[in-house]
Amino acid sequence: TQTNSINDYESARKYNLFSFANAPHKDYKPFHIDHANGIYVYDEKGKEYIDVSSQLVNVNIGFNNKNIIAAIQKQAERLAYIAPRHAFDEAGELSKLLIEEIAPKNMGKVLFTLGGSEANEFAIRFAKAFTGRDKILSKYESYHGSSYGASSLTGESDRASLFPTIPGFIKFPAPHLYGYDIKFKTEEEATKHFLARTEYQIQQEGPDTIAALFIESVTGSNGVYLYPKGYLKGLREITKKYGILLVCDEVMSGFLRSGDWFACQREDVEPDIITFAKGVNSAYAPLGGVLVSKEIGEYYAQNSFTAGLTYNTHPLGVAAALACIKEYKRLNVKEHVLELEPYLKQKLAELKAKHKSVGDVRSIGLFGAIEFSYSKDHKDVIRKNKNGEAFLGNLIPDLRNKYGLLTMGGGSTILVAPPLIITKEQIDEIFVRLDKAISEFADDLV
Ligand code: PLP
Repeated sequence: TQTNSINDYESARKYNLFSFANAPHKDYKPFHIDHANGIYVYDEKGKEYIDVSSQLVNVNIGFNNKNIIAAIQKQAERLAYIAPRHAFDEAGELSKLLIEEIAPKNMGKVLFTLGGSEANEFAIRFAKAFTGRDKILSKYESYHGSSYGASSLTGESDRASLFPTIPGFIKFPAPHLYGYDIKFKTEEEATKHFLARTEYQIQQEGPDTIAALFIESVTGSNGVYLYPKGYLKGLREITKKYGILLVCDEVMSGFLRSGDWFACQREDVEPDIITFAKGVNSAYAPLGGVLVSKEIGEYYAQNSFTAGLTYNTHPLGVAAALACIKEYKRLNVKEHVLELEPYLKQKLAELKAKHKSVGDVRSIGLFGAIEFSYSKDHKDVIRKNKNGEAFLGNLIPDLRNKYGLLTMGGGSTILVAPPLIITKEQIDEIFVRLDKAISEFADDLV
């Protein structure tokens, strides 16, 4: 193994502030990782775990990809950094690939950032400058990042939103069918209902005060919520009608996670702006970005762009992205995800049928979620375990320690979003373990 000889876990605990760590922080015992390979992560004793959520749904190509590592090494030697006002070949090549081959046809320019929150910050700025309007709409039960603008977009009341949020950031209701108090006969009926609510809100706010509507193309960390049929397309029509920009946040759903380069492409929706990060280079180096339409690109051909960050278009992130996209193609990852998509759906459905504690399952591509609930048709989620402690806060370490599964979750939902190179047999292994773990830790709570 590649186990590191320096074991400095206690220094990490003493001196690092860990993100999303519940209080009291002094008792926080982060899991100690040593190295990783493919879909597997190893602790300092060499024990193996399957990464069921690709860390934060970003290590899409899996760990220890030699071609990406070699590309980063080569880039570090040739040009590790250059101020972002300069052009360099790899950035040109990546931008061309994104605009001409990967993004929807209406996209014209791309700006590179270090991650998803920053991408959303720039998208807010672009939307306000382009429209000359102030308000920004986004959805409840959404996550768009933790910097101040991005956390004002975020529609989570008890976790990532930073209160008070920036004035002018307005939330609209989530079109999530599981647990909604109206039961619709068809998805189309639900779509009509939720679009009408949002259009009413736009009219009440004053359409000509709203710069943009942000939405994750698939709601990610809040629990992989897929929208009812035609909903995203309907939002495209409503925003167009009122001159409001549609911004699809593809930070988590993008780069083949949902079976296409961007999840909005599966719905044939062309947003005005797309934000991305994570899977663009599978986290081998920090990189995010904002794709803007030809019209917005043209605006910046005529107007100054008076902002920038030292690490915009960082060459190491760019080199990793070029290599990662080459790997996606070489390994036919898109075809592989589409082939496994029905299999993951079937495995999730079997889990729901078998376990009384599994209230709902959802997935698209290799982007899945399991929601734990006391009921299958009424959302009454499990929040406490047998000892009256936080259910999910204990389930996630139990899955790890007893069943060798690493995953992430929120509320009462865990994600099943493994590296996209996973095989059918490895998916089977995850579900054998989940089946046992759910029997042990969840079913007897119901
Ligand atoms: N948007 C979405 C949909 C995300 O899932 C995330 C991160 O999980 C972000 C934005 C923020 O990205 P980052 O953590 O890279 O700043």
